[in-house]
Amino acid sequence: MPPFELPAGERFRPAYDRFEGFIMCIDCKWEELLEKINDLLDSGDYEWAEDTLNGIHETVEDHEHATERQWQAITNIEEGLHKH
Ligand SMILES: [Zn+2]
Repeated sequence: MPPFELPAGERFRPAYDRFEGFIMCIDCKWEELLEKINDLLDSGDYEWAEDTLNGIHETVEDHEHATERQWQAITNIEEGLHKH
């Protein structure tokens, strides 16, 4: 039996063990987020958000983990293009 189980839909929340600390992510899709950031940077349309994109990329890569807030930030930047 796994030490920690999250209900369905809680895919962004990492699992913690009281004694061991961080164990695993349910499904934060951090590699997918890195790809998405690279796509945005490569497109050349997001120079105005380059600092933010690079910052989030670095953090996600370092931790091999993405938070819901980081996903939201990237989504906002992506949608921001259409508002400008
Ligand atoms: Zn993760």
